[in-house]
Amino acid sequence: MKITGINTSSVTIPLNTVFRTALRSVEKIENVIVTVTTDSGPVGYGSAAPTTVITGETTASIIGAIDHIDTALRGMELDNHELVFRRLNRCIVGNTSAKAAVDMALYDLLAKSLGIPLYRLLGGIAHRVETDITISLDDIGTMVADSRRRLSEGFNILKVKVGSDPQLDIERLEQISRAVGDQVTIRIDANQGWSAKAAVQVGSELARRRIPIELMEQPVKARSWSELAFVRAHAPMPVYADESFFSPGDALELIKSDAVDGINIKLMKCGGIYNALKIAAIADAASIPCMIGSMMECSISVTAAAHLAAATSNITGCDLDAPLFCSRSPGVGGISYSGAEIVLPAEPGLGISRILDL
Ligand SMILES: [Mg+2]
Repeated sequence: MKITGINTSSVTIPLNTVFRTALRSVEKIENVIVTVTTDSGPVGYGSAAPTTVITGETTASIIGAIDHIDTALRGMELDNHELVFRRLNRCIVGNTSAKAAVDMALYDLLAKSLGIPLYRLLGGIAHRVETDITISLDDIGTMVADSRRRLSEGFNILKVKVGSDPQLDIERLEQISRAVGDQVTIRIDANQGWSAKAAVQVGSELARRRIPIELMEQPVKARSWSELAFVRAHAPMPVYADESFFSPGDALELIKSDAVDGINIKLMKCGGIYNALKIAAIADAASIPCMIGSMMECSISVTAAAHLAAATSNITGCDLDAPLFCSRSPGVGGISYSGAEIVLPAEPGLGISRILDL
């Protein structure tokens, strides 16, 4: 099966509600859709989300990078896929979201060529995973109401966005925790919004008030690994990194510097499934658990992440709720949601049958 071309198109998807973190506020998203064609018929699908404040990519830069990748991979034999993935990763530096979109389309093709769902190719049989649900950063009343609503919709794990004023964040979490009770797991994500000292103070105060927090994600600036290590050493709950690492090499160095209890893998940061598998293996070797998350992405790329999560034993948590914030999906098929459960399709590959002309 030879690769005959890689085509891109872009799509704008309004969100159902404004999505706010300590880094940004989003009302609509633009995603790049990728189609990989082959000489034997099957077509592979993927998508990329430009998240300029995290990966530095824009819609135009992703399309430009994929044009370059197209030139590098066109004519290659996909059966020799180790070589294809190595060339994909080496033909251009950075541009991780562009690489991720092509990578997942290639995995889609590999699984389709065997007639099996992608999660089976990746080594699993489970076809359901549980996701958390994000509570956007907002005033306390709105966040409490959101949390209650999500509980009634069947979610068991809340991922609460914090990282603004530390004192206000403590109040937010106390009110939310009181409102939802202890049947619900609360994980928090500060998206780089705190200083190391503030993160330790928030963590300690939450423990003093007996507010149970499963984990604290990315409390400090992305490149401040020493600060992350300080928080890990002094805060009472596990500390996870998200924006602090992208590649398998980053993950190795981050883990070696004793800066994290866990890491949050995202396909848009690491360049796709090929590298995500390496990261999960590195973390596993260090007995560090992984979560898998996404940017504000459409259901095509989140479907790829869910296949990976279902098949990888060291990925123990899923933050794959982004499609629930999207008003529509550019792909037909893929994952579906049943309360907190993500159900993977039984069809070969990603399970996406075609792309809509939105
Ligand atoms: Mg995060």
